[in-house]
Amino acid sequence: MFDTTYDVVILGGGSAGAVLASVDSYAHPTSTVPMGAEGDPGAVVDAQGRVWGVEGLRVVDASIMPEIPSIATNVTTIMIAEAIARRV
Ligand SMILES: Cc1cc2nc3c(=O)[nH]c(=O)nc-3n(C[C@H](O)[C@H](O)[C@H](O)COP(=O)(O)OP(=O)(O)OC[C@H]3O[C@@H](n4cnc5c(N)ncnc54)[C@H](O)[C@@H]3O)c2cc1C
Repeated sequence: MFDTTYDVVILGGGSAGAVLASVDSYAHPTSTVPMGAEGDPGAVVDAQGRVWGVEGLRVVDASIMPEIPSIATNVTTIMIAEAIARRV
């Protein structure tokens, strides 16, 4: 779901150790109730945030992203909310 493998290319002399020691990665947690099609065993909500099998309940936040995105999650969450709000 989330790939933490990176290729590091070092140009130049003795700074490789310092660069490698300072390289790190992190992720903002998302996707705990992922969006997906009906019948998908991993899907919790549909494309409008409605919880499969539960009447009258929507989830509209970072948790419904199908996978952890490789971009910033804040604007992505806002985009999801605005897209679903237009359909409600
Ligand atoms: C330190 C930090 C830095 C970040 N920096 C960036 C960045 O630079 N760029 C970027 O794109 N993303 C960034 N993010 C990620 C981004 O903030 C989140 O992905 C985004 O806010 C998720 O939105 P959300 O609506 O799912 O959850 P949240 O924004 O966490 O909203 C959840 C809301 O629910 C409220 N709440 C919780 N429990 C209850 C309750 N019982 N009753 C009522 N309300 C409740 C909370 O108070 C909160 O307001 C950062 C996150 C962190 C933690």
